[in-house]
Amino acid sequence: MDRLGYYKTLGLKENATQDEIKSAYRKLAQKYHPDAPGVTEELKKLKTNEEKDALNKEMQKKFAEISAAYEVLSDQKKREAYDSGVDEGSFDFGDSIFGSFFGRSKRPQKAEPKVENITVTLLDVLNGTTKKYKVPRKILCKGCDSVGYKNSSTCKKCKGTGVCIEVVNMGGMHLQREAHCKTCSGRGIIVQGPPCSECSGKGRKIEENTVELEIPKGVCEGTQFLFPNGGDEEPGLGAGDLIFVVNVKKDTRFHQLTQEHLYVEEHVPIKALLTLAPLKIKTLGGKEAEVKMPDISKVDLGEEFLCVFGEGLPRQKRENIRGNLFVRIVPVFCAPKDLKQLGSELVEHVEKRENRGALEAKFVHRRTIRDTAGEEREESRSGSSKECRTM
Ligand SMILES: [Zn+2]
Ligand SMILES: [Zn+2]
Repeated sequence: MDRLGYYKTLGLKENATQDEIKSAYRKLAQKYHPDAPGVTEELKKLKTNEEKDALNKEMQKKFAEISAAYEVLSDQKKREAYDSGVDEGSFDFGDSIFGSFFGRSKRPQKAEPKVENITVTLLDVLNGTTKKYKVPRKILCKGCDSVGYKNSSTCKKCKGTGVCIEVVNMGGMHLQREAHCKTCSGRGIIVQGPPCSECSGKGRKIEENTVELEIPKGVCEGTQFLFPNGGDEEPGLGAGDLIFVVNVKKDTRFHQLTQEHLYVEEHVPIKALLTLAPLKIKTLGGKEAEVKMPDISKVDLGEEFLCVFGEGLPRQKRENIRGNLFVRIVPVFCAPKDLKQLGSELVEHVEKRENRGALEAKFVHRRTIRDTAGEEREESRSGSSKECRTM
């Protein structure tokens, strides 16, 4: 980008004041405005319509250029951004009246991108993979030049451009702007005769496109793969891009704690835990990793995570760095095979306790009766003495 482009357009130096900018714009606008007396004079001198059209277009272009330069330089924020090197194309002229005039408004240069969602497994993230995808795309029909009809002629009104200049009255000022040609609906051609047999008059056909996609290790949810111009073709525009968006499928056993760390719940029989032997954990890659048992007299297994270092997922773009696999032990009670014997032992044990309990209960009961009887006796004795006294 020419850093001084806008200043040059208005014939100014980089340190121009706002007054200088305004004055320069006013002078140039009077000179190049399509309705300016000078332009009208010039047009009268020209004989053919082609020559007049060419001059009109040139004036419109010049006027649009100076308007765009003024639009940016007269606005302090836009001017600062421009001076600091922000791309011209990033200025939005949408709100400006000049934006819609003389074709200054931004037009798409290519068709809309085609977005395809693809699903990969955690194992794909671990190892990377190559997959083939069938992506149907719309392509222009060559049989009819994407017109849809074999016989067509150029629209005389817009001379095939699909655009006509429209004069609009805005606050007493006659302004010209581009508008879709109504005669040909902006297509630039007038169609005749039967529709094209190849595309049934649609101008486009569906093509079955097979795309081979190399998915690297460590790919993340939402990663995009771009195939420039791999999308649909639109008449008058370049083909759109094809974009694949990655969706990582949830695994039934392994869960992503973060992008690279995995988490798993391991159900281990209590008996195995009590032996304190190292635990064997199956990793995502299918390996068996040995993990030392923690001191279960001090550690709450339900809360504490064990860690298998380096058995997580590879980091995106740095695949030799891998996350960890975190394991939470869920103790499982597994009854022994001779459950019946265990059952009877348990019953016996419980009965013994119950019997003892019953004996104890009887003992307590008797003591209570005996104690109460004693008290009663004592009470009756004292009562009789009372009676004796009253008598
Ligand atoms: Zn037309
Ligand atoms: Zn066709």
